[in-house]
Amino acid sequence: MDLRFPDYPFTKILGWSNSRYDLFCLCKRKYLYFYYSSSFGKLESKIKDLKNLTTVSLEIGNIYHDMMEVFLERLQKSDAPINEQKLFSYVDNLCAKKLPQKIFFENYYNKINVNFAEISEKVKACIRNFLNSPILEFLNSIEMTQRKLFLVEAGSKMYGKKYFGETRIDGIKAYCKMDFIFVKDGKIYILDWKTGKKDEHKHTKQLYAYALAAKCLNSEIKSEEIFPKSVYVNGAYDELSLIVTDERLIETTKIIKDETEQMQKFCSNIEENIPLPVDIFEKSQRESVCRMCEFQELCSG
Ligand code: SF4
Repeated sequence: MDLRFPDYPFTKILGWSNSRYDLFCLCKRKYLYFYYSSSFGKLESKIKDLKNLTTVSLEIGNIYHDMMEVFLERLQKSDAPINEQKLFSYVDNLCAKKLPQKIFFENYYNKINVNFAEISEKVKACIRNFLNSPILEFLNSIEMTQRKLFLVEAGSKMYGKKYFGETRIDGIKAYCKMDFIFVKDGKIYILDWKTGKKDEHKHTKQLYAYALAAKCLNSEIKSEEIFPKSVYVNGAYDELSLIVTDERLIETTKIIKDETEQMQKFCSNIEENIPLPVDIFEKSQRESVCRMCEFQELCSG
């Protein structure tokens, strides 16, 4: 079975994504900073700098995702046993190379010096979980010829082109960038790596959206032949596996349409994706949300 990643012509209209809608619900002002920084004139470059701040938990996730990309590419070529020492020194090197280039929220706002060695150890703990997991056993059981069809980061390097997961859900522009998608025995498997806490409600919607996106990759695939799964590796290993049915996908399509319309109500021009005036985007009243927000210095003035 071929998975086809279509090319969509550029359009300005906003594209739904699970993370975009989450941000929209969390704080309208933060959503405006994040997606429409040009609304703030001279502050635009400051907003972009703040947007680039990272956090310890984000970097654990980023490095783990990088490692999974490397690991799965290797699995496509070799069945040789894993040399843990070599793998873990690769993690150390990756952390040493990438982390010093980042500006951490913890340091910027709270003046806490981030311990890169601790991040590396946490990534290694996640990888250990993965190495002992049933999902790796399943991947190892796949014939080498079928492993060639692995799409790691769902084709971020697909056919030499950068891929952002753009898709269409019942004609609606959406972004569903899957971590890992592959075909085995005529079925599609979608895996999403999670280094944070399990949030069943949020992740269920995300997985059904991925299943909808997978349908766009091959029109012949039946709903019940798609198997999306979140794989939790931080702390005790866990999974969230969903049964996909036509009814669930119709329901998810309705949710995505509704969420897109809610976000579009904050546009003065939907096609051009121009937001309403700044004042319409209310600031959150929740201190706990603001305390964790990268834009807090803009709101406190
Ligand atoms: S500091 Fe609070 S109000 Fe301001 S953008 Fe962040 S979350 Fe929203």
